[in-house]
Amino acid sequence: MKLNIIPRTFHFRQPAGTSRGVYTLRKSWMLELTDASSSCKGIGECAPLPALSQEDSPHYEDTLREICRHFERLDGTPQERLDRMTNLLRPYPSMLFGLETAVLHFVRGSVRLFDTPFSRGEESIPINGLVWMGNRDEMYRRMEEKLAKGFHCIKFKIGAIDFDSEIALIRDIRQRFGPQDIEIRTDANGAFSEADALWKLDELARYDIHSIEQPIRQHQWEAMARIAAASPIPVALDEDLIGVNSPAMKAELLDTVRPAYIILKPSLHGGMAGTREWIALARQRNIGSWITSALESNVGLSAVAQLAADVYGPGIQMPQGLGTGQLFTDNIPMPVLLEGSELWMR
Ligand SMILES: [Mg+2]
Repeated sequence: MKLNIIPRTFHFRQPAGTSRGVYTLRKSWMLELTDASSSCKGIGECAPLPALSQEDSPHYEDTLREICRHFERLDGTPQERLDRMTNLLRPYPSMLFGLETAVLHFVRGSVRLFDTPFSRGEESIPINGLVWMGNRDEMYRRMEEKLAKGFHCIKFKIGAIDFDSEIALIRDIRQRFGPQDIEIRTDANGAFSEADALWKLDELARYDIHSIEQPIRQHQWEAMARIAAASPIPVALDEDLIGVNSPAMKAELLDTVRPAYIILKPSLHGGMAGTREWIALARQRNIGSWITSALESNVGLSAVAQLAADVYGPGIQMPQGLGTGQLFTDNIPMPVLLEGSELWMR
């Protein structure tokens, strides 16, 4: 059994601005699983996010190569080898996710990784439209593009321009569209200080905001707990989940902060196994969740979407964050297709 690594670089159509910098290139590593006794092939994508993944390091590819050699040396079926490595790979979520995808693809002999209505192409998943940071005019224009495409749930990255401009933008939107027309989600990516967070959330709350992701920086569990308890807008954790890998620590984070939602990116938050574990722990605590992609190519996006359908479906109502398929000029062709605000496997 061979597990090859194929490095890839993808090019953004437009530079993607986040609070952690601007991306123009996206590097990822494809894993290709083959076996002499079979004509099947399994492809998975390992896509750590620069400056955000705990795995981001100049030695990423060396570590990935060691993991591949370890997988090759084990005995048993691909699934048995993966099962024996899953615990070991908890600190390497993007590598685990790539391996899980490659094994599923190989074992099923199809890019339909799960037996769900979504993977069979019978139903779609609603997704939110993402408006990247920019100046007020750019953000307004991008929002209008999303509305024209039929999106009802729009997520704004906030915290880059000054807060007054962001509030003015959201006020303008709400003057035209009520909460029945547009659900507004916000993501501060940790941009607020603890001292400012609550008054900013009070301001935002005047405009019927569905949720705020990561109002303050991660690793401040007690401060985040105070904000989550007092916030008029439901608080969602994203970056705070990074590096929290053991079930006990996951439970401790959820019990300490008591967020309304957690947002799961398999490439960052434990691969498929770790994502399922987070969702089970959240459900036990009445904490909601949704799944989002993390700037993977279509190989990763397809796997993330199929995982979401397997975990939450059939009949997913809550928009998921899977709208990143159009970002690259040189994406890999896969049967994931965005029609309006609905993602399909066709
Ligand atoms: Mg986020």
